[in-house]
Amino acid sequence: MLDIKVTKIAAPKPKPEGPLGFGKTFTDHMFLMDYTEERGWHDPRIQPYGDLTLSPSARVLHYSQEMFEGMKAYKGEDGKTYLFRPEMNAKRANITCERICFPQLPVEDFIQAVSALVKLDADWIPTQPGTSLYIRPFIISTEASLGLDPSKKCLFMVILSPSGLYYKDGLEPVSIWVEDDYVRAVRGGVGFAKTGGNYAAALAAQAKANKAGYDQVLWLDGVERKYIEEVGSMNIFFKIDGKVVTPALNGSILPGVTRDSVLTLCRDWGLPVEEQRITIEELAEAHRAGKLEEAFGTGTAAVIIPVGKLCYKDEVFTISDGKTGPLSKRLYDTVTGIQCGKLEDKFGWRVTV
Ligand SMILES: *Cc1c(COP(=O)(O)O)cnc(C)c1O
Repeated sequence: MLDIKVTKIAAPKPKPEGPLGFGKTFTDHMFLMDYTEERGWHDPRIQPYGDLTLSPSARVLHYSQEMFEGMKAYKGEDGKTYLFRPEMNAKRANITCERICFPQLPVEDFIQAVSALVKLDADWIPTQPGTSLYIRPFIISTEASLGLDPSKKCLFMVILSPSGLYYKDGLEPVSIWVEDDYVRAVRGGVGFAKTGGNYAAALAAQAKANKAGYDQVLWLDGVERKYIEEVGSMNIFFKIDGKVVTPALNGSILPGVTRDSVLTLCRDWGLPVEEQRITIEELAEAHRAGKLEEAFGTGTAAVIIPVGKLCYKDEVFTISDGKTGPLSKRLYDTVTGIQCGKLEDKFGWRVTV
């Protein structure tokens, strides 16, 4: 158990009014805990949200040595506050930490830090259906030297951001650009880890897709540019000829909590499910044969994003007539229903704060 020292804000900030958007406003408090080689993790504390003081030579600023997580808190109709599968985020944080040579953070400490902060700022959790409190735990290297060896000094933090409706009127399909020049990750690299550099490296392709009139990028594998990997900050699923298909975790794909939940639900519903290698050419073939029934992305921010249109080289595929397919809708309703306490939690995914 962490002995968290709490310093409360003198006067709570006014809550935002109007559309919240994503990641724009932050709550009254933040959690911090330092690590040094000599003392290990120490000085866990909650204090008013505010700027950090950091040496200009802090390694995070130069070598992007950082890990982050993304999760959410939900306010149930019963007034309780829920987290969704927080131990999965805590375990994934440690997988990222291992890959980028950060110290491990005990799973129970991660969850305690998140829970304590969410509890303190619980009146910031929006209550409108579809809204939630986005939680951003992260670790940065604060070691003040430009050497390139594993950092002996770092900082774990948690910040919270009320997040608005992703969709204005129900699920809205997005359009996807299949990127066949830039790549996101290769096996042996850091594609499976939630670490900052991956996202800086993805911006150019995202800008290219937006310029071509598409919402998001679908990445292909980094070697042959042939196998489908994932979308921006979401995993990708297809329904082909009655079967639910998603790329297998191969070391370059981020193992999403939502991906795992969707796989579990589909199997529970008795749908044929396959985690496999799938080429963009096989997908195009399925589309030409009229067998590509649905496509959707999965991730914490939007839960399920139906894909209405996909562009690969010069070919544009329209999927489920550009509308939200029945499986996407059923998954969205089920996952969000479990998250906010409206549906039975058969798998024990909900954690009360
Ligand atoms: C976070 C993330 C996902 C989705 O993971 P969830 O745990 O479902 O939110 C997928 N792909 C990438 C690249 C990500 O960063």
